[in-house]
Amino acid sequence: MKCDKCGGEAVIYQRYSGMHLCGAHEIADVERKIKRRMRKERMAVPSDHIAVAMSGGKDSAAVLSILVDTFTTRSNIKFSAITVDEGIDGYRNESIPRAKELCDQLGVPHHVISFKDEIGYTLDDILKRERKEASCTYCGVFRRTLLNRKAREIGANKVATGHNLDDEAQVVLLNIMNGDIERLARLRPSRVQEGLIPRIKPLMDVPEREIALYAFLKKLPFHMGECPYTSESFRGEVKDMLNDFEARHPGTKYSVLSGYENMVDCLKEKYPQVPLERCEVCGEPGIRGVCQACKLKRRVKIDRRSGDTHSAS
Ligand SMILES: [Zn+2]
Ligand SMILES: [Zn+2]
Repeated sequence: MKCDKCGGEAVIYQRYSGMHLCGAHEIADVERKIKRRMRKERMAVPSDHIAVAMSGGKDSAAVLSILVDTFTTRSNIKFSAITVDEGIDGYRNESIPRAKELCDQLGVPHHVISFKDEIGYTLDDILKRERKEASCTYCGVFRRTLLNRKAREIGANKVATGHNLDDEAQVVLLNIMNGDIERLARLRPSRVQEGLIPRIKPLMDVPEREIALYAFLKKLPFHMGECPYTSESFRGEVKDMLNDFEARHPGTKYSVLSGYENMVDCLKEKYPQVPLERCEVCGEPGIRGVCQACKLKRRVKIDRRSGDTHSAS
């Protein structure tokens, strides 16, 4: 197959656009989509300090690399990378060195914080005992809190994540299927909350498989493994369903995202954003009283204690 732009050897067929593209034109297409989104939402402005959430996977590698490439000449934007080590044996110990390698290549300061140091337990530890929630609940809540705190500590005013089109479409459908429309509204916060570093998602218009291809074509160091806990999530089922739809009806993922963008203003009117308060325990921003992270942390501790009594008797 030939590239529709230059006649060179095609490496991908984008069914949703009907185009065959060679490596160079695929790279250009991915970067065009990212830059368009960044411009549209003014994701990077002079004097920003953007902390990139680096897992060491393809998405975060792509986001860090393109941000640094695009804005290096505009010297008044600063970048840092933060990796949260959840403590997942056989997974994080492979991906963290890749994250570090890319940061070194790009000359970006790299900060690593771990569940073990900050919460007292690795995710593996937590899941061995306490299973009242799905693994992604603990992971997601703790990761978000640690990332936000670290970003604030290093003086970042934005956190960039590697969420791609698939992630975005999945989370929209997931919230609809859970009937959690308030959470759907909160996916696009309209104003900055005290203590909460705003998130930007530059990759949200790029399908996951094209990010993987991009990272591969650009020879970025990244880890290919998948989190061993993903298979147990409801989200995994939504992902499969969406991929199945996309295969039979190309463009479905884009339709889910644009449909969501068309209704989000109505949702935000129905569910106005509540100002966050400080958590009574840790001082981090939260809905009211004790934050989600502290509640989960307390539960893990209690369960651990009763678990210990059990094993002793
Ligand atoms: Zn081409
Ligand atoms: Zn708290």
